[in-house]
Amino acid sequence: MKCPHCMQGIHESWTMAAHLGGDRDGDWRVLQMVCPECRRFIIRVERQVASAVEDRFFAHPRAPLRSPLSEDVPTEYANDYREACVVFSESSKASAALSRRCLQRLLREKAGVKPGNLSDEIDEVMPKLPSHLADAVDAVRNVGNFAAHPLKNTNTGEVVDVEPGEAEWLLDVLEGLFDFYFVQPELLKRKRAELDNKLQEAGKPPMK
Ligand SMILES: [Zn+2]
Repeated sequence: MKCPHCMQGIHESWTMAAHLGGDRDGDWRVLQMVCPECRRFIIRVERQVASAVEDRFFAHPRAPLRSPLSEDVPTEYANDYREACVVFSESSKASAALSRRCLQRLLREKAGVKPGNLSDEIDEVMPKLPSHLADAVDAVRNVGNFAAHPLKNTNTGEVVDVEPGEAEWLLDVLEGLFDFYFVQPELLKRKRAELDNKLQEAGKPPMK
């Protein structure tokens, strides 16, 4: 399996941390292992019925279903995104509301759009994005059926009914925008610094 913290491929080796006993829903146990790569605890809860595992979920980390964000994503955005991931399995409505609010904040603070409703802000940012990302952001309105749920447009953080796939789509769009605004520029900056170092070592002037 992949470690839900660091996403490295690891061998599963669980030890039973606690056998809680049985209730009318089944037999409960807590399993733990330490990731050999990142040395962090992975904790899982299992419920068995007639010796067969009926239910199994991660207690820690809570949101292992998506890759971790790059360190280049500023904390204030990364926190909102992580929260949206954590609540996702319990409530896609709440997750979508957190993501929508995070998207709006990113558009206003990073992309510099004029604050308005989310739909107008999306219109404003689209020409500034590569076309695949522009299409993805544009689709937020269709996937979320803004026409039927106008609150998504005017009060982005409002918890309202979601359409199928909407909450996941918002997380995908946020990931794409984080990559565009934070991860790629930093990556190129680091590569450029490396190149300049090499040029300097070779006694040549830095890149223009
Ligand atoms: Zn790990």
